[in-house]
Order: sequence, then C-alpha cells, then structure tokens
Amino acid sequence: MDKIAPKVTEILKEMLLVSDSFIPLHIPEFDDKEQQFVNECIRSNFVSSVGSFVDRFEEMLQTFTGAKRCVLCVNGTSALHLALHSAGIGFEDEVLIPSFTFIATANAVSYCGASPHFIDIEEKHLGVDPTKLSEYLEKEFTFDGVQLYNPKTKRKVKALVPMHTFGHPCKMSELLKIANSYNLLVIEDAAESLGSYYKDKHTGNAGLCGVLSFNGNKIITSGGGGAILSNDIDFADKLKHLSTTAKEPHKWEIKHDNIGYNYRMPAINAALGCAQMEKLANFISHKRKVAEMYFNALKNVDGLRFVSEREDSKSNYWLNTIILDDASGYSLGELLKRTNDIGIMTRPAWTPLHLLPIYSNCPKMDLEITENMFRRVINIPSSAKLGF
Ligand SMILES: *Cc1c(COP(=O)(O)O)cnc(C)c1O
Repeated sequence: MDKIAPKVTEILKEMLLVSDSFIPLHIPEFDDKEQQFVNECIRSNFVSSVGSFVDRFEEMLQTFTGAKRCVLCVNGTSALHLALHSAGIGFEDEVLIPSFTFIATANAVSYCGASPHFIDIEEKHLGVDPTKLSEYLEKEFTFDGVQLYNPKTKRKVKALVPMHTFGHPCKMSELLKIANSYNLLVIEDAAESLGSYYKDKHTGNAGLCGVLSFNGNKIITSGGGGAILSNDIDFADKLKHLSTTAKEPHKWEIKHDNIGYNYRMPAINAALGCAQMEKLANFISHKRKVAEMYFNALKNVDGLRFVSEREDSKSNYWLNTIILDDASGYSLGELLKRTNDIGIMTRPAWTPLHLLPIYSNCPKMDLEITENMFRRVINIPSSAKLGF
C-alpha cells in the first residue's frame, strides 16, 4: 500500500485547487505590455532579425545577468548548437553532458558531428556531480597536458556542459576546477536558470559561454527563443556573425565568409521578450514564494524531500521538484496518476538520455544516481502567479 501518493495529492489539492480548474505545470504571464511591444514591432515593419527590439532584448539580458555580451537565437537548442560549433566542437569529438537533461543538450552535440559522453548527477540538486566526474576522468581518460582523450573511443574530449536542473545551479567552482585541469571548455546549459545565481554570479557566466531558453514554458518567454551569454567579446562577435549567415557587413554587396546559420531571433519574438524582461524580477520573487509555500506544506511529510536551493546559491525555482524516498518508481507512478486525474499537472523527469535508443550507444560513466532519480523525481505546478 502506498501512503505517500494519496497524502501528497491531498496536500496539493488543498493548496492549488480553488475550483475545478486545471492547474498547468508552467504557463506564461502576459498583459498589455506584451501587446503594446508586439504592436509597436509590427508597426515599425522590422519584424525579422533587423529591428531595435533584438538589440534591446540583448542589452536587457546583459544588464540582468552581468554578462558582457548576449547573442539572441531562434531557440535554446540552436543557441546550444551555435555555441558548441563556434567553440570548435566538431566531427568525432566527445562532449561531457549529464544524461539527466532535456534532449536538446545532447542533440546540439550531435548536430556538431560529435558524441555526447554521459555523466552522472548528485542527488541533492540534480546537477553534474563533480566528485564522481573527477574520479572518472582520472581513472578512465588520458591527458597529454593539452588534450583529454577517451582511450576506449580514441576521441578527443573537448568540453563540459553542466546543466542547472530545474533552476538550481550546479557546483560550478568544483566543475570549473576540473575543466581547467583537463583543458575542457565549459558551456553552461542555463536554459532553465535565468534568474539563478551561483555564489552571487548569474548562471551562464562561469565558462566560455552559457545558453538560455525563452520557450513558452520557461521563466520568461519570447514564444520561441534562446540566447548565448559570453564574457569573451571576440567569441561573442563570432557567435553573432555565424548566427546571421556569416554575411560580411556591406551596404549593398551580399557576400558570406563562412557557412553560417539563420539562427538570429526575429524582432517580433524579441518584442515579447523585452516586455517579459520588465517583469522578470517580479516573476522570480513570486516563484520563490511559491517554492516556500510548497516547502512549508511538505516539510513534515515522511517519505519525500522538496528540493530547496543550495545555501551558497539562489534558485529561480523554475520547476518545483519533489524527490520521493521510494526508489521502486511505484509511488511516483501513483502520484503522477492521482494528481493528473484531478487536474493538477505533474510530470516525471526526462527519460535519461542514455536510455533512449538513439543515445544508448554513447559512451557513459556509471549512471546510478541518474537512473535512481528518474524513478523518484516529480515536478509540480510552478507558474509565477500560482497562488497569487
Ligand atoms: C528548454 C531547454 C533547452 C532549450 O530548449 P528550446 O526549446 O530549444 O529553447 C535546452 N536545455 C534544457 C535543459 C532545457 O530545459
């Protein structure tokens, strides 16, 4: 008999179900501001990639995150691809990424002709486990002082892509130390962590660059959209150039100096993004209150843990997360069924990527915690205005 699922369902019902309405996992919040900016954009006629809203959204993101440069892209996946490609990740390289992430992280590596190499996470905040990674690299890899190699595949291991799961920052100091000692580039998948800080530094700022997403379910949305943050001006220039078909600047000539991409965010999306940026601080403070509400409601319940932020960091609490003690997956299934049956949307974590047939042949370390967490993690409704 499972006692946890009925109990948690009852708690969530009491907290969330004021009427019979459906409670989604995460919905965007719009008001007149979005309408106004989008209308303004349409009236200006500059709805594609040339338009003042694109520059404005980039500047707003730079100011907010403290990054020296920001390059907007059509979505987070293309931003990841462009970042990896521009960083020199290419055919037959390997990139260290968690298996416990959205598929975009792995797909972006594949688009470069490289292979993901899956690494495990830590149980507390579900980010890449630095201790386990360090031991693994020490034991199973070779390093000639310049380049890290995977002796089994004979491939170069060029980069590490930590992902700040559900908005909780990874242990970046430890990860940076490891990356530095093996000459690995660090590209943060900060798609879920706009508004999250690791030791006073906004996520995405630690390595060569960091990637954001503004998909409809993220903390702010531009319909679809992504961005690359970087403190390396030359690298950011390269990103922008390659994102805009690598066209040489000229008043009338049309010449391209590289195989570029058509990845730049259209102004119509950026207009939406600018309006959302004005509310970001408010969204974050609301989301932190939602998290506190959950924490208090669940703190005395046996058999589970609510994922709270690390003491040295600040989380945007993008998706609130419960981790059940039961590792069989039974309670998780029960809880998913009961909550979704009464209209409270909950969902499990992504199927670990190494368990998907398309990625099952990729190199990987032992992924015990990833597989264990997949049977225990559940996301609960987390919209900014929930309960307000
Ligand atoms: C949302 C997300 C992305 C990017 O997704 P897009 O939908 O392409 O913007 C990448 N990685 C993670 C972990 C994400 O959650």
